[in-house]
Amino acid sequence: MATIRRIGVLTSGGDAPGMNACIRSVVLTAAAHQIEVIGFSHGYNGLIEGDYTKLLPYHVQHIIQLGGTILKSARCPALQTEEGAKAAAATLRQLQLDALLVIGGDGSFKGALAIAQHYKGQILGLPGTIDNDVDGTDATIGYATAIDTALDAIDKIRDTADAFERIFLVELMGRHSGFIALSAGIASGAEQIICPEFGTLEPGQLDTVIRPIQNAQVLKGKSSYIIVMAEHCYPGGSTTLAADITDAIGIECRACVLGHIQRGGSPVGADRILATKLGAYAVEQLLGGAHLMMAGEVNHQAGLYPLQASGERKKRIDPYLLRWQQQVAND
Ligand code: ATP
Repeated sequence: MATIRRIGVLTSGGDAPGMNACIRSVVLTAAAHQIEVIGFSHGYNGLIEGDYTKLLPYHVQHIIQLGGTILKSARCPALQTEEGAKAAAATLRQLQLDALLVIGGDGSFKGALAIAQHYKGQILGLPGTIDNDVDGTDATIGYATAIDTALDAIDKIRDTADAFERIFLVELMGRHSGFIALSAGIASGAEQIICPEFGTLEPGQLDTVIRPIQNAQVLKGKSSYIIVMAEHCYPGGSTTLAADITDAIGIECRACVLGHIQRGGSPVGADRILATKLGAYAVEQLLGGAHLMMAGEVNHQAGLYPLQASGERKKRIDPYLLRWQQQVAND
């Protein structure tokens, strides 16, 4: 068993509901093992600048239900330089930390790997991002909440779209993957889903979007039509695509960009449970000597996955749901 007396924890990259639940679990589990916890503020910036605070169990009381992160999160371009990685490692050494836990997405894990070049302690990652684009875990902390937040909004848009017999284009987050768009699109009964896994859409290919709309209106008499799209799937985004659809078919199409609403809010039960499980598991695995791994959950089993692979390997979106949407719903 590794000797672990003091560890650091930080939240990095896009904040995600459940990050607080994860910090709480880390602190409570560490306390049960007489391990001290230092929390760094504003992601890797706190590590580089020495902005930290000791975290005791009473600091994490009643935070399991809170969105955001009590440690704050941020991007940290400085870490992408050799000097930045050295400065981060120097803080870890100076504070005599035996290990560091990084709660974030695949970018944050690359940052952890950079620090590991200059630091002899253990480093583990915990998947915290709404995007779910981290390989080695079925779901990331925050993903389930983001889907429910998007669903709540799309259901409301459906009401007004139905009342006014309108076409709506709802743009969801997801950067380079369509996890949120596909899940929220299917769960809301969206007529059409546009996501990177179906290929990018160019203005010259507008026909593939328009034909199903026209079919639906003529053949099925739809009183509303909702297209859910992932961000970055069309040049100019959903606003431009909505205008192009309106021009092409002569029926007004409205765009609604959900944006950062998807990152906020109280975490749903699934995220609180996942965050608690992975936070506890990560601390226990540190004691077992784990290093440069990510604590994830696959088929309800917590497990370790190489940190490097979680960022390098592209996580596959559910091929069954993709096929179903393409063959049955996107008609
Ligand atoms: P999300 O997917 O929710 O946005 P993320 O962790 O992928 O989360 P990024 O902005 O990609 O978010 O990365 C967060 C931080 O990790 C960056 O601001 C930077 O400090 C660090 N980081 C990312 N890539 C690297 C890299 N190649 N080398 C060193 N540090 C990196």
